[in-house]
Amino acid sequence: MLDLAIIGGGPAGLTAGLYATRGGLENVVMYEKGMPGGAITLSSEVENYPGITETVSGMELMEKWPEQCMRFGLRHEMAEVSRVSRPEGLCFKIQLSNGSVESAKSVIVCTGSTPRRAGFKGEKEFLGRGVSTCATCDGFFYRDKEVAVIGGGDTALEEALYLAKICSRVYLIHRRDEFRAAPSTVKRIKESDKIELILNAVPEEVYGDAMGVSGLKVKRKDTGEVIDLPVPGVFVFVGFDVNNEVLRQEDGTFLCDLNEHGEVIVDLAMKTSESGLFAAGDIRIMSPKQVVCAAGDGANAAIGAIAYVEHLHREKLC
Ligand code: FAD
Ligand code: NAP
Repeated sequence: MLDLAIIGGGPAGLTAGLYATRGGLENVVMYEKGMPGGAITLSSEVENYPGITETVSGMELMEKWPEQCMRFGLRHEMAEVSRVSRPEGLCFKIQLSNGSVESAKSVIVCTGSTPRRAGFKGEKEFLGRGVSTCATCDGFFYRDKEVAVIGGGDTALEEALYLAKICSRVYLIHRRDEFRAAPSTVKRIKESDKIELILNAVPEEVYGDAMGVSGLKVKRKDTGEVIDLPVPGVFVFVGFDVNNEVLRQEDGTFLCDLNEHGEVIVDLAMKTSESGLFAAGDIRIMSPKQVVCAAGDGANAAIGAIAYVEHLHREKLC
């Protein structure tokens, strides 16, 4: 039986693995369905991770993380987890998509969340090269330049306000003429002289070349007019899918408490409502969705998992 199963090998999962093994847990497996590294490996430019003095790609940032964890005994299994459950007693059951089953004394879920795509031409091709889903990460690259923001929810409007502090102009494109966002946020948007609203409009195509994005074509829904915005940056905020499926049980309920958006509710120690089950990184409530925060969460959760497993051993519960 594993002391700890870590689900997901992004910054949260890798850091959890590092802290858990270096902190004394001996039988720790990190299940990652692809190569370890996580969502940040999609980014071509990262400059806000502490200690990085030059801009690096997400791949470069994450390159040495797995090697560091493996030194202390973390094992990586390239496998997709289909479900984590607790059918009886204190042990967790880890079911893999390939049909295998493993059991673990504690679990840290670090499967992240996935920004939704708006679905316009070029969006996927230019992701990380001018199309972004993170203003905190990429806004600085467009300092004193014009950018476009797509979406009408709280995230889009709050990020548009953030970008308006850095960029010379922000075009906020929304498919309706009413916003979903909180009225107070909408008021601030309307008061900003840096934000230009393009309403009842949908993005049609982002275009550019090998260097990145050079513009966005937007179509007005009422007149059919196409507006060509010569922007080097396009920020898409059309919602998130929380990767919480591994926690869904056979009867459709979830193993631990989630909020109304499907994010895992944790306390400051990354403990969920289920003892011995922790969640870290972008999957948790109020996540700032930053590498440094996900890594911090992973360390925090691992420290909790070590204490939990030691308690089981001390009390001879497992
Ligand atoms: P993730 O990195 O999403 O990792 C989750 C991992 O779990 C993935 O590797 C996935 O394959 C795996 N997984 C999911 N489900 C399963 C399963 N069922 N079984 C097995 N494995 C599974 N942050 C910054 O701080 N600075 C930046 O400049 C920055 N730029 C970004 C640019 C882009 C294009 C993107 C997409 C994100 C950016 N971010 C940036 C955000 C950052 O990438 C995330 O906050 C961070 O990666 C979250 O880490 P995580 O470990 O919680 O989740
Ligand atoms: P959201 O509320 O689901 O809003 C997504 C927005 O994107 C909507 O305006 C939607 O348009 C638009 N959209 C969706 N698909 C699109 C497409 N294909 N093309 C163009 N536009 C598209 O997502 P969110 O803003 O990320 O917020 C998620 C949740 O977190 C919400 O409940 C939100 O209130 C909450 N949140 C709260 C705060 C806060 O309280 N400060 C901050 C951030 C997020 P329509 O409006 O036409 O559907």
